[in-house]
Amino acid sequence: MTTIAENIEQLRGRLQRFERQYERSAGSVKLLAVSKRHPVESIIAANEAGIEDFGENYLQEALDKIQHLSSRRLIWHFIGPIQSNKTKAIAKNFQWVHSIDRLKVAQRLSDQREPSAAKLNVCVQIKLSQEPSKTGIELGEAEALCDSVEALPNLKLRGLMAIPAALLDLESQRRSFQTLAQEYSRLKPRYAQFDTLSMGMSNDFEAAIAEGSTLIRIGTTLFGTRS
Ligand SMILES: *Cc1c(COP(=O)(O)O)cnc(C)c1O
Repeated sequence: MTTIAENIEQLRGRLQRFERQYERSAGSVKLLAVSKRHPVESIIAANEAGIEDFGENYLQEALDKIQHLSSRRLIWHFIGPIQSNKTKAIAKNFQWVHSIDRLKVAQRLSDQREPSAAKLNVCVQIKLSQEPSKTGIELGEAEALCDSVEALPNLKLRGLMAIPAALLDLESQRRSFQTLAQEYSRLKPRYAQFDTLSMGMSNDFEAAIAEGSTLIRIGTTLFGTRS
């Protein structure tokens, strides 16, 4: 059995190797540990190994963990589909939301974010072709949604996110990430705080790094298979 600390060390090594191989600057790709369906002990182990950013998909599970771990300085990212009746708790408990796919949800998150708190960092989720998940806005509608989100007072529009279809070979993976990366580059000059291209998971993060990802969301490779 390898430990979570060993997994993290190995993953950091691969991440650095891919940064060099694809001529990305050192440290330009951030690691988000996706801890959904893993116990708080695993989060503690990862935090002890230097990880501070954790991603969760299921609200109630996440709230339990956030409360349990409140003495640690962790940064919580909501990365799952959002029902509009869940926005209040998300606005209160998370620092990041990667899965904004409609204005109604963004509007509610902004309205429900404490104005005295730091702005909620958000990414707009794009649905790439053949994506299995139902969340994400069509590529052609991304700009209009980003413009609206940028105008909301308690949100900070940080970038784009996507979950492409699971493709086995590196070249096909690169092609689908390239679509998102091109849209990201096109939109970047429009928004003051746009600096995050959230793409890449356990099975495709090499392709994501090759295509310019600035944040990879890694679950299985860090924590093992989910229960
Ligand atoms: C579960 C999940 C991940 C992590 O997936 P792994 O393949 O386990 O690395 C990343 N992003 C999102 C949005 C997820 O739901």
